[in-house]
Amino acid sequence: MSFTLPALPYPVQSLEPYIDQRTMEIHHGKHHAAYTNNLNAAIQGTDLDQMTIEELLKSMDMNNMVVRNNGGGYYNHCLFWEIMSPASGNKPSAELSTAIDSHFGSFDSFKEKFSQAAMTRFGSGWAWLCVHPGGALEICSTPNQDNPLMPGTGCGGTPILAVDVWEHAYYLMYQNRRADYLNGFFEVVNWEEVSKRYEQGK
Ligand code: MN
Repeated sequence: MSFTLPALPYPVQSLEPYIDQRTMEIHHGKHHAAYTNNLNAAIQGTDLDQMTIEELLKSMDMNNMVVRNNGGGYYNHCLFWEIMSPASGNKPSAELSTAIDSHFGSFDSFKEKFSQAAMTRFGSGWAWLCVHPGGALEICSTPNQDNPLMPGTGCGGTPILAVDVWEHAYYLMYQNRRADYLNGFFEVVNWEEVSKRYEQGK
């Protein structure tokens, strides 16, 4: 079995003015495509190629850097495209909203903590909102293409919201202004999809 680069679930220019078309073209068509191809090449003919991507991440040998980097890169970007959508102003479901308020105090406080996790990730990586069985929420961040499903990352649970803070995700439009990129990102979060993943993960 091999993994397939998914099509973007919306037109490539439709996250503008928050994320520009050229960034999306390169990010999806070059970076995500490379993670996909490199992962497929690395697992071909091994017992890893019988696994789903979730199984592969959960059982990751963290010393296998090629599979770790490209398996993470494959999954992380699949999730990232899904949890964004053209600016629609949609909001977390009532249930997710209640969970956010009870864990973080308020939506604004959640946004601040999530952005803080993304801002303080030195170099390249991701910030996450994860749900644990029972519904507990966790904000965390990982370096490079690591992912909360992998063992021993210091992040746990099922990721339901993710932001890519590699410079390739924002540099063409925002240069070094990661905080501005994060504000733009929040304008295009697909809360309907995040809420659905919360329901499935809790
Ligand atoms: Mn990326």
